[in-house]
Amino acid sequence: MTENTNNPYYNLFIKQKNNQFKVSNGAYNQRIKKLSALQRAIEITFREEIKEALLKDLGKPYVESEMTEIYQIVGDIKHAKNYLHKWMRNKKVKTPLSMLGASSYIKYEAKGVCLIISPWNFPFNLTFGPLISAISAGNTAIIKPSEMTPHSSALMKKIVDTVFSEEEVALVEGEVQTSTDLLKLPFNHIFFTGSPTVGKIIMKAAAEHLASVTLELGGKSPTIIDETANLKTAAKKIMWGKFMNCGQICISPDYALVQQNVKNQFIEECKNVLKAFYSNNPKESSSYARIVTPKHFERLKSLLTDAEDNGGNFEFGNITDKAKKYIAPTIVSGLGENALLLEEEIFGPIFPMVTYKTIDDAIAYVNSKERPLALYIYSKSKRNTEKLLSYTRAGGTCINNNIIHYANHNLPFGGVNNSGIGKSHGYYGFKAFSNERAIVKQHTFGITELLFPPYSNYKEKLARFTVKWF
Ligand code: NAD
Repeated sequence: MTENTNNPYYNLFIKQKNNQFKVSNGAYNQRIKKLSALQRAIEITFREEIKEALLKDLGKPYVESEMTEIYQIVGDIKHAKNYLHKWMRNKKVKTPLSMLGASSYIKYEAKGVCLIISPWNFPFNLTFGPLISAISAGNTAIIKPSEMTPHSSALMKKIVDTVFSEEEVALVEGEVQTSTDLLKLPFNHIFFTGSPTVGKIIMKAAAEHLASVTLELGGKSPTIIDETANLKTAAKKIMWGKFMNCGQICISPDYALVQQNVKNQFIEECKNVLKAFYSNNPKESSSYARIVTPKHFERLKSLLTDAEDNGGNFEFGNITDKAKKYIAPTIVSGLGENALLLEEEIFGPIFPMVTYKTIDDAIAYVNSKERPLALYIYSKSKRNTEKLLSYTRAGGTCINNNIIHYANHNLPFGGVNNSGIGKSHGYYGFKAFSNERAIVKQHTFGITELLFPPYSNYKEKLARFTVKWF
C-alpha cells in the first residue's frame, strides 16, 4: 500500500477500508434502511431530475427512462428487500460421515471495499444496480461512472452524497485516468460494466492484487429467425429491442440470422413496424433517442460507409444528421462477409441481416464468433430451438422475445468468456459481492483424530477403510 499514498483516492479508500467491518457487521435492518433511502431518492426525490439528465445526455424519451432506468432500479431494490433476510442466512450443508462429530455451513460475508465502474448507456441502472448488490452484501463501495454522460454522472454524485456517507459509498467522477488511479488500489472486488476491450484492462489491473472481478461486457448478440417463426410478432419485438435507446444496449439484437426463404417477408414486416413505431420521419419522433456523443456518431457513420463499400443493400434508413447526433433506424442486407457491421459490436441503430439455409448453418455462423451476451431464437419448432440451445453458448437467451430476460430478478444476468465473467442481479448479484466462507464446527471427538501421527500399520488400515467406506 505504501506505493499508493500519492494516489488521489488513497485517503478515501483507507476511510472505507477502516469502516468495512462496521458496515458489514451492521444488522440486516441497517442494510434495509440504506436500500430504502436509495429507493426514496430514485423513486421520489430525484425522479424528475433523472429523466431530465437522461434527456440531455441521450435524448432518452421519458417512457424509456421510467421503464429501463427507474423501474429497473426500484424493482431491484424491492426484490433485494424482499429476499435479503433469506440471502444473508447461514446455509447449512451436509457433512460427510468421515467427519462425524462436526457440522458445516456457509456464511455469506461482505467481500470488503468494492470498486464499481459503469458505462453510459443506462447510466443510472448500471451504476445503482451493482450498488444495490454491494449494499445488500454489506460492502463499502467506490463508484466511477462514465464520463460520456456528464449530466447523469453529476446527478448520481448528488444522489450518492445525499444518501450515503463517503465512508460507506462514494462516487468519483472522471475519465480514464480516474479509473486507472482507482484500479491501483487493492480493492476486494471489482464490478465492471463496459466493453470487452476495457474489460481486459480491468482484469489485468485486478490481477495485481488478485481482486475478484465481475465483468459485465458486450459483444454481438445474434437473433435467429427460422421459417416457422411468427414473422409479424417477431418483427415487432425485434424492432423494439433493437432500436430502443437508439440501439445502445448491450443485449440489443446485434444482427439477424434469417432463414433464406422468409427473409423478404421478414424485412417487409420490420419496415412496417418501424413506420408504425417512429413514423415516416423518425427524426421528428419523440419516441426515438440519439447517439451519445459526436465520437460515437462518427464510429457508426463509418460503419455505414463501410457497409456501402461491402455491397450492403439498405432496406430502411441510412439517413444521418451529424449536428443532431441522429442516425435513422437502419436495416441493411446483402453485406459481404468482411463488412465491419458483421465483425464489431454495433451498439447503435443499425441492423444487418444475414441469411442461412439450415439450422446447422446458423449454428456454425454463431459459433464462428465470440460467445455472445445474449442469443435470441424466434421459432415454433421445438427441434430447432433445442438444437440452438444445445449447440451454442450465450450469457442468456429469450425464446420468441428479446431483452426481457434482463428484467427477471430471479435469473442470473451476465455473459460468458468474451461477453463477461460472473453474474449479477438479485441473489446472483448478492453472491458476486459476498465471500462464501466455509465453516466446519467440531462438536465432539472427530474420527480424523484417530489418524494423527505417529503412524502405524493399524492407522494405515484404518485410512484404507475410510477411503473404501466413507
Ligand atoms: P467502456 O468500456 O468504454 O467504458 C466503461 C467504463 O470504463 C467507463 O466508466 C470508462 O470511463 C471506463 N474506461 C474506459 N476506458 C478505460 C481504461 N482504459 N481503463 C480503465 N477504465 C476505462 O464502455 P462504454 O462505451 O461505456 O459502454 C459500451 C460497452 O459496454 C459495450 O461494449 C456494451 O456492450 C457494454 N455494456 C455491457 C453491459 C452488460 O451488462 N453486460 C451493459 C451495458 C454496456
